[in-house]
Parts: sequence; C-alpha cells; structure tokens
Amino acid sequence: MSKVMIIGAGGVGGVVAHKCAQLPEVFSDIILASRTESKCKKIAAQLSRPIRTAQVDADNVPELTALLQAEQPELVINVALPYQDLSIMDACLAAGVNYLDTANYEPRDTAKFEYSWQWAYQDRFADAGLTAILGSGFDPGATNIFTAYLARHYFDEITELDIIDVNGGDHGYPFATNFNPEINIREVSAECRHWENGEFVTTPPMSTQARFECPEGVGSYDIYRMYHEELESLSTHFPGLKRAQFWMSFSENYLTHLEVLNNVGMTSIEPVEYEGHKVVPIQFLASLLPDPSTLGPRTKGKTCIGCMVRGIKDGKERLMYIYNISDHQACYREVQSQAISYTTGVPAVIGAKMILEGYWREPGVWNVEQRDPDPFMADMNELGLPWTVVELDPGFRLDIVKGQD
Ligand code: NDP
Repeated sequence: MSKVMIIGAGGVGGVVAHKCAQLPEVFSDIILASRTESKCKKIAAQLSRPIRTAQVDADNVPELTALLQAEQPELVINVALPYQDLSIMDACLAAGVNYLDTANYEPRDTAKFEYSWQWAYQDRFADAGLTAILGSGFDPGATNIFTAYLARHYFDEITELDIIDVNGGDHGYPFATNFNPEINIREVSAECRHWENGEFVTTPPMSTQARFECPEGVGSYDIYRMYHEELESLSTHFPGLKRAQFWMSFSENYLTHLEVLNNVGMTSIEPVEYEGHKVVPIQFLASLLPDPSTLGPRTKGKTCIGCMVRGIKDGKERLMYIYNISDHQACYREVQSQAISYTTGVPAVIGAKMILEGYWREPGVWNVEQRDPDPFMADMNELGLPWTVVELDPGFRLDIVKGQD
C-alpha cells in the first residue's frame, strides 16, 4: 500500500495512471502531476477510481520539492520529458523520495544521449538510502530485462545482441510520431552508433538496413540500425558483449518525410530568428504534428519488440530470440492509448511495483538490467505484456539489404 506521484500527463503518463489505478493493492494513493493540470484531470476522469492531480513545473526544483514534501509519496514515476530527469532527481533527493524514469537525461540544447549525468547521482542516492531506477520503459526497459533474463537462464556468456523494434501500426496520418515528436525526431536523426569490439562505431543515420520477418504473422519489415540509449548501459553491464546493435522499423513514407524536413532545416535544435522571435525549428515542427496521445483510436496493427541474443552455453554457440507482440487496438480498448505508449507505460508501472514490493529496492542509481529480472518478467505476463522465447539456429543472421554488417 503506497502513495505514488506520476509526473507527466502525455501519452505515457496516461497509460501509467490507468495501470496504477488498476492495482490498488500496490498503488493505494495516486497523484498525477504535470505542467498542464487540465491534461491530468482529463486522464483522471477516465479512471476506474479517483486519483488526485496537481500542477507542477518539474524544471523548477524548489517548486517540485515543495510538492513532494507536502505529499510525501514513496516514489516518483517520471514520465515527463528527458529534459526533466535531473531536476526531478534533485527534488527527490531533497524530499527523500525514490525515483524511476523511462528515458535518459538529455540537455535541451544538445542532442546527446548518455547516462553519465544520471550515473553521477549514484553516491547521493546511496547515501540518502533511496533507490533510483533508470530506463524502465520498453526500450530501454523491457529490452534490458529481456537481455538480463536470457543471460541468466540460457547462457554462460552473451556475446552479441540485436534489439529489434518493429511497429507495424498505421495511424492513417501522412506523418506523425508515436511518442513526443521532439524527442522522437532528435533520436532518429542522430548519427548511428553501435557497440563493436569494445567501442562505439559511428555510421551515418539510417545507413544500414535489414529486412526482418516478425514471428506470429506480424509481417516482414524494413529495419534500420540506429543508436539507442540502452546500448550504453548494456555494453557496460554485460562486458562480454562483442557487438550490440539496435534496429527500428520505419516506413519509406516516414523516412521520406524525415529526409525532406531534415533537408529544409526543420529538425534543427538550433534557434533561428523569425520576425523578431527566437524559434527552435524542431519545437515548431512538433507543435504542428499530431499529439501522440490522440493517435490511440486511429492506430491499427501490432508492435513486435524483442532481443536476439547470441552467446555460449556449455561450450556451444546458442541463439535465442525473446519478444512481445502488442496490438494497438487492444491497448486502446484497455487504457485508451496506442501500443507505443502502452508498451512504455506498463514496464514503468511494473518497475514501480518492483521498488514498492522490495524486489528492486537498493539504495543507489540502477539501470533495470542490474536488478533481478525474474519478478519483472513474471509481472509482464500478468499485466498485459506477455513474452515468448524461441531458440533459433545459430547459423541465422539478419538479412542486411543496405550498408555494412
Ligand atoms: P508527451 O510529450 O506526450 O508527454 C510529456 C508530458 O510531460 C506532458 O504532459 C508534458 O506537459 C509534461 N511535461 C513536460 N515538461 C514538463 C515540466 N517541465 N514539468 C512538468 N511536466 C512537464 O511524451 P510521452 O508521454 O510520449 O513520453 C513521455 C516519456 O516517455 C519521455 O521521456 C519519452 O522519452 C519516454 N519514452 C520512453 C520510451 C521507452 O520505451 N523507454 C518510449 C516512448 C517514450 P504539457 O502537457 O504541459 O506539455
């Protein structure tokens, strides 16, 4: 029985609020706080039991600290934007509250993804006796747990990892992003980095492409290699990994729009002067695109996100694939949201449950793969993200159609 504060009332915040409300035995008291309180109230009105809402600017540490001190929740679930991670961690330390998020800190003015800023809080959280869990969404999140689970139960050592994120959903818009447009476009237009023999190798964005046949009839998709933040923590925590890559599916239509927007400068994070105002092109573009939290009713199709892990067991090479398939419309029926927000929000709730139930409670700052994967995996099956493990022929390789292997 615990009090929890959810910060952020976007697509993911909505799912987290729905799921926490479904589990009163764990989350007995819920406060949904965000910059725009009307969005919190709109979500609260959809829920099966009453929750409270609050207005807070999470960039403002004293303001957030005061709210946390007044409410004294046991845990903050941060599903605002990556820009707020450090200020929310600071406020949690000041008010003595545990912390969990789904995306690593990014400075607003540099598209730079790395954990160093948050890992630097290790001693402060440890000294305060507080637990901070980083990256408990799907990717990062479930994908890290999948890797840790396979490493523990199927291998003596893991040597190669391919995280494959396919979204076979269609929302019917010419161009829209499935989560916060600014964060999404910063991520997909960044240079690709993958882990190879002890270092990150940089290649141009979208320059390596493969064709991937999803299981269970989800279909065959073009996937592109890109940088994703879990590569940093997984290559650190599984030092035997010789190669780690992240792949995401994109339609030709999405990539054409992105290329044009890039070419005309609309994805830039550098402010430009327009009629006496400073405008950040990517923020202006984000304001024109559909709000991801409104895509739910229109999105049809399935997601298939998983990890292909190669390694050694009893002296022999082995290849395992673990995945979850989620259906956009089924997610919408359950929590009024499409599957991207659903697959992010549910692992955030499970991670929160792990802290509150004590499985993951240990003072310090942890990536999810550093905690026990087993109770988390059991809850995924119970709480809407069932997973399947299959063994593949170790001779299997991804079908590279463009760029280098
Ligand atoms: P949205 O843009 O839909 O929602 C973000 C919410 O945060 C909004 O309610 C926004 O308020 C609020 N917010 C922004 N700034 C502040 C602030 N200073 N103070 C208080 N609240 C603030 O994003 P999503 O729901 O799509 O994504 C949420 C998080 O989930 C992001 O960090 C994203 O990177 C992460 N994510 C992680 C994934 C994973 O698998 N690990 C996958 C997808 C997303 P307002 O309404 O006023 O703008």
